Amino acid sequence: MRFPLTLTRRMTGYILKNKLSGNAKFPLVLMLEPLHACNLTCTGCGRIREYKSTINESLTVEQCLAASEECGAPVVSICGGEPMIYPEIGRLTKELLDRKRHIYLCTNGMFIRKRLHEFRPSSSFFFNVHLDGMEKTHDLCVERDGVFREAIEGIKAAKAAGFLVSSNTTVYKETDLGEIAELYDFLTGLGVDGFMLSPAYSYAAVQTKEMFMSREEIQEKFRVACALLERYNLMTSPIYLDYLRGERELMCTAWGNPTYNPRGWKGPCYLMTEGHWGSYRELVENTPWEKFGYGRDPRCRDCMVHVGYEPSAVLGGNGKLTDGWRLLKWQVFPGTRKPLRTAQLHPANGVGAASGAAGPSKAGGGTLGATSANDAEHKGLPILQ
Ligand code: SF4
Repeated sequence: MRFPLTLTRRMTGYILKNKLSGNAKFPLVLMLEPLHACNLTCTGCGRIREYKSTINESLTVEQCLAASEECGAPVVSICGGEPMIYPEIGRLTKELLDRKRHIYLCTNGMFIRKRLHEFRPSSSFFFNVHLDGMEKTHDLCVERDGVFREAIEGIKAAKAAGFLVSSNTTVYKETDLGEIAELYDFLTGLGVDGFMLSPAYSYAAVQTKEMFMSREEIQEKFRVACALLERYNLMTSPIYLDYLRGERELMCTAWGNPTYNPRGWKGPCYLMTEGHWGSYRELVENTPWEKFGYGRDPRCRDCMVHVGYEPSAVLGGNGKLTDGWRLLKWQVFPGTRKPLRTAQLHPANGVGAASGAAGPSKAGGGTLGATSANDAEHKGLPILQ
């Protein structure tokens, strides 16, 4: 099974219940940001910039739980900021698990070893570690040496203690997909349970734009990515991958992945901010959804991130009759996980070929930290639709 059976069961029941009751807009994944502070200070981080004035604020555990109760999403992606520096992260996780939420704790991995004793292994809980390449590339992306090594030590410790672990990777224009295959081979060897992948989004707050791809470039990049990486246990849905390859159209369903943070419910989506609302219901009822998405708002032109599109086959109006069967098959038969041979790892994909040559470029005095700014494009949207 690609995902724990409990998640499949809960998600299926939840979707059916909402559809049968005629609820047109409901969330699948809550993007919960208890704080925006981070131990890394990547210069291009959209979150740090956008929330600079409230960077020291955080939600209480009770506020987090109330938000989860109100929106009802069966999956909670705890992100930020760096959630592992949230003082009550252990209690928050336990309380959410007690309420039968499935959790992805999205982290840079630096504090897993230090705080592992605050957690208990569960089939409903994943450490989701952000890695954008092998050691040289990843440390360049996060602008600090040693981050990759500590994250790997954290993964090893978590696996040894019986935890589920996934990784998430942002794909930029310069990402060497051969290196990502190399990374997946390495992580598979460590027992990592699955992999998330998403294109970067060009935040307004990130000044260096060269690293981001146009819609057409994303489609080209993901045609190569799928050919190379589908053998691994990707936790990115096949329908969303069709969309990323340009083989299927989907409409943005940003209400399916709402973001809650110290300022409230962020609208219209994880990426753009036009305001913050006091409740999920207010966000849904006051946002003119028909104005957002590809072809509707110029800011959405090159956005293909999963916070907008991964749930669309279920929540949007353009699902296909065969989608359910395809998703079931995908859930039951995970990737083969056969390692690639070295010669297969670096095919021509229009980008750098050697480890360390990939990732966002620092040319022109630009910023590499945008990696962090884009963490949440793949933070916790492993939706079993
Ligand atoms: S297309 Fe992307 S940027 Fe536009 S509303 Fe949807 S998720 Fe947000």
